[in-house]
Order: sequence, then structure tokens, then C-alpha cells
Amino acid sequence: MKKIICSDLGGPAECEVEIKGNTPEEMGKNCQEHVMEEVEKSDGAHQEAVENMQGLSPEEQKEKFAEYMKICADAFKRD
Ligand SMILES: [Zn+2]
Repeated sequence: MKKIICSDLGGPAECEVEIKGNTPEEMGKNCQEHVMEEVEKSDGAHQEAVENMQGLSPEEQKEKFAEYMKICADAFKRD
């Protein structure tokens, strides 16, 4: 199982929570779930990361998402 850390996918720089998954898509989904869990726990840093993402235009959001999917895909090319 490949893994990356939260901050690789736009999470707060200080978050080193490992995001795992069996596919790049699953990894992306697990990261989103982790971020939402942190926001529910009222974690300000993750809340800010979400707000930054929401502040982007739809085109920029699409680009970011593509970038994150590439990071996930690249993680699968390692080793
Ligand atoms: Zn995190």
C-alpha cells in the first residue's frame, strides 16, 4: 500500500498524517476524509486549507485537483 502525507495534498505544512490507499483515487478520497475529520474536530490549520481551496475559481480548483491526483499517481510509481 502506497502512502503520502497530508501536506503533500494541500494540507497544512505541519500535518504529517500518512494518507494511504490502494489506488491514487482511493488515496485522494482518504485525504479528503482526513481533512474533513480534522475540520470537524475544529482544527484551524485544516479549516484554513479547505478555505484556501474554496477561495479558488472552479478552473483553479480543477487544476489543483489534477495536481493532487498526479502526486497520488506519482506515489504509486515510487519503489
Ligand atoms: Zn492533515
